Amino acid sequence: MATKLDRRIIIAFDFSELDLALALMDKLDPTVCRIKIGKEMFTRFGPVIVHQAHQRNFDVFLDLKFHDIPVTVAKACKAAVELGVWMINVHAIGGAAMLAAAREAVPLDSDTRLIAVTILTSMDAIQLKGLGILETPLEMVKRLSMLAKNIRIDGVVCSAQEARHIRKIISEDFLLVTPGIRPIGCKQDDQHRIMTPQEALVAGSDYLVIGRPITQAQDPYKALLEIQADLQSLQF
Ligand code: C5P
Repeated sequence: MATKLDRRIIIAFDFSELDLALALMDKLDPTVCRIKIGKEMFTRFGPVIVHQAHQRNFDVFLDLKFHDIPVTVAKACKAAVELGVWMINVHAIGGAAMLAAAREAVPLDSDTRLIAVTILTSMDAIQLKGLGILETPLEMVKRLSMLAKNIRIDGVVCSAQEARHIRKIISEDFLLVTPGIRPIGCKQDDQHRIMTPQEALVAGSDYLVIGRPITQAQDPYKALLEIQADLQSLQF
């Protein structure tokens, strides 16, 4: 039975070999997850990888984080919409004019969700200071989220830790997409500030980006279903 928790998990496909990616797609079920294709796979394989996912009925989040002059970003967004992907993203730091151009290229009634990256989780206060920015990462994430919301961007990518702060200032319909998720007992890898899938949902995340805990599992489909079952046990 479908519930509101279905397909909250977006699996990060970070593979350098096409065969491995396709083999994993064939093991998964598009009714219980979505797929994120990022810069590495898109640079290596181009739209082919998106078509392969679509042929298998997966929704695709094309994670290319566009950031350029407004007209260029608008054209890239239009091309992504024409690929038929479910979600795309741009950098909020590209500014209001760039966000507005992206919004215009992805109409509000489009089937493609347009979200903004606030501050990469790899950035800390010291690195921001090096760029001449004196705000804390959290203050900046909140400010860029408000900017995106005011331009009617559909949501943001943020850490699950930031999600609860954004939820306090922006309404429920603003999508929060959160990476850095680790089920209990999983390796942390190179992620620093992690949350479990359950904690992330409670914090206000709408979509959980999960890569290695599923893609590197001995049985990826089983790992996915276990996380899914864990989420279903949450009472909202
Ligand atoms: O394997 P793992 O679950 O750590 O994968 C997380 C995915 O989310 C990767 O594709 C990574 O590039 C992406 N991501 C992230 N942290 C961000 C933004 C994106 O880990 N702040």
